[in-house]
Amino acid sequence: MKRFLPFLCCLLFLAGCTAAPDAAEPAQAQFFSMDTVMSIRVYSEGGEDALQAARQEIEGLDKLLSRTDPDSQISLLNSHAGDGTLVALDDQVVQLLSFAKSVSQLVPGCFDITIAPVMDAWGFTTEERHVPSAQDLAAAMTLVDSGKLTVDEAASAARLEQAGMEVDLGAVAKGFAAGRADAVLREQGVTSALLDLGGNVTTIGSKLDGSAWQVAVKDPQNTSEALCVLSLEDQTASTSGGYERYFEENGQTYHHIIDPETGYPAGSGLLSVTVISSDPMLADALSTTLFVAGPEEALDFWRSREDFELVLCTQDNRVIVTEGLEAGYRPAAEDRGYTYEIARR
Ligand code: ADP
Ligand code: MG
Repeated sequence: MKRFLPFLCCLLFLAGCTAAPDAAEPAQAQFFSMDTVMSIRVYSEGGEDALQAARQEIEGLDKLLSRTDPDSQISLLNSHAGDGTLVALDDQVVQLLSFAKSVSQLVPGCFDITIAPVMDAWGFTTEERHVPSAQDLAAAMTLVDSGKLTVDEAASAARLEQAGMEVDLGAVAKGFAAGRADAVLREQGVTSALLDLGGNVTTIGSKLDGSAWQVAVKDPQNTSEALCVLSLEDQTASTSGGYERYFEENGQTYHHIIDPETGYPAGSGLLSVTVISSDPMLADALSTTLFVAGPEEALDFWRSREDFELVLCTQDNRVIVTEGLEAGYRPAAEDRGYTYEIARR
């Protein structure tokens, strides 16, 4: 439980920063799934049943998608790497694999779900974290190539072409789960709810008084404080930051978001990236991708699309907010040394 305490604290912080609606007490649950703390709060009447259905949906997806659960679909896929088997998989798993592959093409060299052997080399999977030897890292890197992940949507199946390859959906699973839980809640008639799936905050509708949800983006250098607060309705804010999971060795800090081109933690000049989108799965995948890409490439990519906005926190203490958020964001109340700027198209 000890190692989850920081997560719990972060969550309470976020909860604390999310203004409660005026009226009724929400139906709420806090639970551990997908290796992180999650919370769901439903403000619509009769929300308890909807909430339980959403929670079950998430827990079911965790069982399908977890790499560490030997009975998961991902373990099944991984266990057949290199043996030529086209592995029959659940439709939604195939869709997620296909989406993840497509993200690798969006900003080349930044996102790759076959990064698993490299995560293992760094010990991020076992909690025995360490800097890998050059040899071990090079060996792991020969296994990273989502071009060698074949996804056959028509057959609802997938195949890893090389022995030793493994898929790790850590960068997209929570966003995918948020999208499904959101759908379940809406199907049950929920019009006002907040989901926090380990740093992916999804809002349904608005607060009961009709005003927008107020969602805090954490200060990556002081995670009990807010970097800024966003007004959101029917949107997800997904944050990737080097501060989420890391270790120190010989005075150096190493975090869990890996540059697939080097095999090392991405050092692109960003401390955190928050992606705001009406598509939770896209928000989650892009937050990881753009953290690796760095500020310039992230903004270039933002200018090429219309389906998301960004809050970037750079290593040189700039907070760059894209113009679509301009009307609905507030910088931190107290001065903590950041300069805030609006990026224009
Ligand atoms: P978090 O899981 O902390 O919210 P992210 O969504 O950014 O953060 O996902 C990080 C996870 O994604 C890592 O723990 C690892 O499993 C996986 N991962 C790390 N680097 C990459 C990458 N470049 N592309 C795809 N997945 C990655
Ligand atoms: Mg992500």
